[in-house]
Amino acid sequence: MPSNVTAIMPGTFDPVTVGHLDIIARGACKFGRVVVGLVEAPVRKAPLFGPDEREEFLREALAKHPNVEVDRFNELVVAFARRWDAHVILKGLRAISDFEYEFAMAQLNRKLAPEIETVFMMASPEHSFLSSSGVKEIAAFGGPVDDLVPPAVARRLRELYPPRV
Ligand code: ADP
Repeated sequence: MPSNVTAIMPGTFDPVTVGHLDIIARGACKFGRVVVGLVEAPVRKAPLFGPDEREEFLREALAKHPNVEVDRFNELVVAFARRWDAHVILKGLRAISDFEYEFAMAQLNRKLAPEIETVFMMASPEHSFLSSSGVKEIAAFGGPVDDLVPPAVARRLRELYPPRV
């Protein structure tokens, strides 16, 4: 039963994949509200899609969940969480390779905001090797991504990169 706890799920979502959607949907069953936080201007890597398009993909894919909100942010994750009065940061964990970075981020965020808990959900086995960058790579070479992303994203990628197989 959903509790009255708000969780934020931060990410770049460039673009959103079915792996992200799986974690958000599972989170929405466990928390009263999940606020998906879109990093508007990532510092690490320039995104393929602008914030408007990334937000639109998320909104469309998540419209069926009454307790899921989408918002953008350009501040510390903990500041975003506090803005929504959220005490949980929800993250998906795939292979071991995610662990080191996520472990460090969780510790840093705990130092900045001890009242906020980072909660990890294990990726579903079928999504364990799915990433936004992998999707972009497949699409760039004209490969099929229909099973990996919501339909609107697959359509847009086909426009950008006409299929070759
Ligand atoms: P970042 O901007 O941190 O690289 P992403 O937008 O790629 O983040 O992903 C946001 C969150 O979703 C992260 O917690 C990441 O671990 C999780 N995630 C990404 N892909 C998957 C997947 N296939 N299954 C489960 N969780 C995932």
